[in-house]
Amino acid sequence: MLSGKAAVLTASTRGIGLATARRLARHGARVLVSSRRQDHVDEAVSGLRAEGLEAWGVACHVGRGPDREALVAEAVRLFGGVDILVSNAGINPHAGSILDCPESAWDKLWEVNVKAAALLAGLVVPHMEKRGGGSIVLVGSVAGYRPSFPIGAYGVSKTALLGLTKALAGELAPLRIRVNCLAPGFIKTNFSSALWEEDGLWRKLEKGVAMGRLGEAEECAGVVAFLCSPDAAYITGETVGVNGGIDCRL
Ligand code: NAP
Repeated sequence: MLSGKAAVLTASTRGIGLATARRLARHGARVLVSSRRQDHVDEAVSGLRAEGLEAWGVACHVGRGPDREALVAEAVRLFGGVDILVSNAGINPHAGSILDCPESAWDKLWEVNVKAAALLAGLVVPHMEKRGGGSIVLVGSVAGYRPSFPIGAYGVSKTALLGLTKALAGELAPLRIRVNCLAPGFIKTNFSSALWEEDGLWRKLEKGVAMGRLGEAEECAGVVAFLCSPDAAYITGETVGVNGGIDCRL
């Protein structure tokens, strides 16, 4: 399905990003995984290679311009270009009232969750254009549809990704580059562990999930792979929810 495609993924040394890298590679893509820590990158790459997959890695903190440039340069060096970008990095530096969110946390949210995705898209687009097209997937959140306590500020940053998806999709369609967004619900990863490790809290939260269970990173990965594949050739500017039936939009 993705045979020979060159894929760059941010925040892909565990959780949704790593599961997506594995899935893209299983479909035939060559994947460049990345995250802040070199030891995490090395571990992810050797794990993927041990499964017989074509994987490479480089450290990249998406909030840092030189790191973003080095990531894309490494993809071009290894693969000769870029066909797929999965912008998966997201942080949540503040829990509590949105009114109490410190300016430093707003800056981090904007820098990592929103700005980095837009700037990375800008870096890969010239390479996708040379290949005659490409696919970008931004990883948002169900929280983007309805930002609320205690992760309102994070939710607002993810709402911005819904907008970024639309804006990029419109601009890049003439270049045959599709841009879509994934909106996970409660997925069992390290990132969400505060929500499901404490049994009492999860019992409350699961009432809002029609399927009554957490999702798995692999259940996100399959949707990203589909969005990057020829089967999604006529899909752009869309956000796909993977949330077990959380009531978040019509
Ligand atoms: P995770 O399992 O905790 O993995 C986070 C990954 O991000 C790690 O590989 C980490 O590696 C990397 N990372 C963290 N900060 C980074 C940065 N500034 N630059 C580059 N890499 C960075 O998280 P996850 O649940 O898979 O989350 C992935 C995405 O899904 C995020 O955008 C999150 O907002 C979104 N999401 C998750 C859920 C959920 O329930 N899990 C729900 C909705 C949306 P290093 O430590 O080496 O950097």
